[in-house]
Amino acid sequence: MSRTASSEQYLSLVKLRRELHQIPELGFEEKKTSDRICEVLEEFGIPYVRGLAGTGIVATLSRGSASRAIALRADIDALPITEASNLDYRSRHEGVMHACGHDGHTTMLLGAAQQLARSERFDGTVHFIFQPAEEHGKGALKMIEEGLFDRFPSDSIFGMHNLPWLEAGRFATCTGPIMGAEDNFEIRISGRGGHAAMPHETKDALTISASIICELQTIVSRSIDPIQGAVVSCTEIYTDGATNVLPSQVVIKGDARSFTPEVSQRIEQRMTAIVAGLCAAHDAEGSVIYSRVFLPTINASEESKRAADAARAVAGSDNVDSDYPPMMGAEDFGAMLRDVPGNYIFIGNKGPDGKGATMLHNPSYDFNDDIIPLGVDYWVHLAETELPKTL
Ligand SMILES: [Zn+2]
Ligand SMILES: [Zn+2]
Repeated sequence: MSRTASSEQYLSLVKLRRELHQIPELGFEEKKTSDRICEVLEEFGIPYVRGLAGTGIVATLSRGSASRAIALRADIDALPITEASNLDYRSRHEGVMHACGHDGHTTMLLGAAQQLARSERFDGTVHFIFQPAEEHGKGALKMIEEGLFDRFPSDSIFGMHNLPWLEAGRFATCTGPIMGAEDNFEIRISGRGGHAAMPHETKDALTISASIICELQTIVSRSIDPIQGAVVSCTEIYTDGATNVLPSQVVIKGDARSFTPEVSQRIEQRMTAIVAGLCAAHDAEGSVIYSRVFLPTINASEESKRAADAARAVAGSDNVDSDYPPMMGAEDFGAMLRDVPGNYIFIGNKGPDGKGATMLHNPSYDFNDDIIPLGVDYWVHLAETELPKTL
């Protein structure tokens, strides 16, 4: 059992997590979820401000006279997935599901707020951020644009996500990049369509696009330092051709990943040059729309050391990997870490019986309620050590 939570608190948190699981809502539509979070905060007597990025909430607890403030963040949105389970608390919203465990993250942060509301063991301010719309990468930036860090200044910020392939009871984090940036691109090629039997009368946009798709693979293999890490993936292609018609228009869409803004810029620069060069060679027109959807999630070194220490204190030093390899998946907490130094840590979700081991974003995924006490303990211990009370 938990260092700080009673079994009664644990049971009520499990109940809350399953309630949230039944009312999953997509990004910026988390109306019922947001209402429920506010109700719980009121029950705990914790003041809060709602309405940032629409459905976002920031609750705040202050003690003593220290000016230092920290922020702890949970994401609250769900995914457009139909849940494949017979659980009695399965989603009641057709086609929407908490398949990434944000119901669990929200519950653990509320549990920590409840504990800290009763605690006199810290001096300073804790902001609890309940952030909408993580999944499509827009919620964190929207909260920041609406004044998150001006209204709730924070010296350090911390985030946590469950990981189904990491054993329950364990934590993992690292210093520097931990999650990738996600960029999306759309390439348009305009040639001249025509009869498939008379190619010499056309500028076949499809043959040009085939060359472009192959050539784009040289960005990672020949233009990026192999130690830096990058991915360029073409994922969709559309033409206005038919079986016997060579197309005049082709659209290629795709996704690029990297760990630093410099590599992301290099990918865009090389992509633009390759499209322009190959289109010029075939006397066609080409354009690239390149957009940055998720910033890289980059952990600050001091905060990451302290986060790993807090995890060791609650989970035992053998259960914390503070040099975990980064992943190319994206997380919009990266936008918050761009503005405030902090740390993003993983908490293991895989129980000994295999519970919680199903992959994120899978229709059979379920957050493992057994990890709630450890997640709450981590947040409480982290807040108390980040804001030490001097005697
Ligand atoms: Zn997700
Ligand atoms: Zn997630």
